[in-house]
Amino acid sequence: MTYLYGPVPSRRLGRSLGVDIVPFKTCTLDCVYCQLGKTTCKTIQRKEYVPIETVLAELQTYLDEDLQTDYITVGGSGEPTLNSGLRRLIEGIKKLTSIPAALLTNGTLFYLPEVRADCSKADVILPSLDAGDEATFNKVNRPIAEITFERLVEGLIALRTEYSGQIWLEVFCIERFNTDSKQIDKLAEAIKRIRPDKVHLNTAIRPTAEPGIEKMPPDELLRIARQISPDCEVIADYMSSHCGKATAEISQTLLSMLKRRPLCLEDVCAALGLNSIEAIKYLDDLKKQGLIQYENKAGLIFYKAR
Ligand code: SF4
Repeated sequence: MTYLYGPVPSRRLGRSLGVDIVPFKTCTLDCVYCQLGKTTCKTIQRKEYVPIETVLAELQTYLDEDLQTDYITVGGSGEPTLNSGLRRLIEGIKKLTSIPAALLTNGTLFYLPEVRADCSKADVILPSLDAGDEATFNKVNRPIAEITFERLVEGLIALRTEYSGQIWLEVFCIERFNTDSKQIDKLAEAIKRIRPDKVHLNTAIRPTAEPGIEKMPPDELLRIARQISPDCEVIADYMSSHCGKATAEISQTLLSMLKRRPLCLEDVCAALGLNSIEAIKYLDDLKKQGLIQYENKAGLIFYKAR
């Protein structure tokens, strides 16, 4: 499969079959915490980056095999709303299956009415909001010039008004960037205006685009959750334990490769034929077992065996 990956375990969506519809690191943002590394194509241009009919044909093949998944999740290696064929994709998914369709997005293009319309048939939209003001937005998310904090928030408010499905907003917390009490108050104010169905707090569990981005202690995250709203949830790290034989084999192959030389994420994907999100899960698993480590060289993350 070229455009499908997984199903991968997701903290919020259970078993999630990923659908990747933009090339690696094609995004409107360049978040300091991005687990894929630095954005190499920062753009606001919408076009059919990958052919939607081919993606749907792959999905049909997958569904014919009758494999299990809880969600079909459009997202992947960059910002999926940049693909101008998004509406055809979501409508196509709905025609092919009753498995719910989710959209993982940074939310920056919802200020465009056509993007909101494109997503209207998704069952759940999972956008991000990591800042309560322009300065923090610029510091954490490093947007392309056309995207401002107010534009992002206005877009999310408009989405809420027009869209009848679920909106689960994710806030990524980074110490010294967006977690002081004043900033959290501003963030809470913006969230009140957006009125999502759920708010999820996350932190840097995996290696990030910029060095020095540390994960926050759970009690700190909980304090922030309480400050935002009583029903704001800290999403625990959903550690992969869906280790079938294929998973164990891939992990072993990956480990022996990393014993020979350090590799970046793209090398791992190319060598093993994995999507970047899948590859990160395997790397994460090996790192948690203490078998590999990583270093950040000018925004490029290299993994090597210990
Ligand atoms: S975290 Fe998401 S929105 Fe931010 S740079 Fe990475 S792919 Fe883009």
